[in-house]
Amino acid sequence: MKQSKCSLYQKITKYKKAGKNGTIIECPECTHQEIIYHFSWHALVCPGCKATIEKTDYLLPKLSSDQEAKVRATHEAERRKLPKGLKILDKEPVKVKNPYMPGKWVVLQPDAAAVYDWIKGSEVLEQYEDVQIGLHWFRINEPEAYMILLD
Ligand SMILES: [Zn+2]
Repeated sequence: MKQSKCSLYQKITKYKKAGKNGTIIECPECTHQEIIYHFSWHALVCPGCKATIEKTDYLLPKLSSDQEAKVRATHEAERRKLPKGLKILDKEPVKVKNPYMPGKWVVLQPDAAAVYDWIKGSEVLEQYEDVQIGLHWFRINEPEAYMILLD
């Protein structure tokens, strides 16, 4: 376990709610910091060390507003990067229907459509780690589409 980035932490409780602009959580294994937008998950694969960390093991660092702004700026640039070098195939936004719920659909930007196709393909191939990575990308970048298509 690495040295933590700051000395003040709270534990994440079962009923923790995310802030409107996301909440910064820190991996207890590698200190990677991540902004998440809701807490309706049990565990997440840490993008830093690839360990699966239970929600209640993640830490909530108490950051100054300067520190927080820095973390947010870094993540803003990083967070929409496509996982595993995925290629964007579409040039225009794509309308995607929920295959299980007729009448539910969303319009996805080309990058989100690429991730969505990858999730569905990974499900078929039983590549569940990739599915999780894709779902995580959606929860962060397209929370509304996530609720409609993937939740
Ligand atoms: Zn980690």
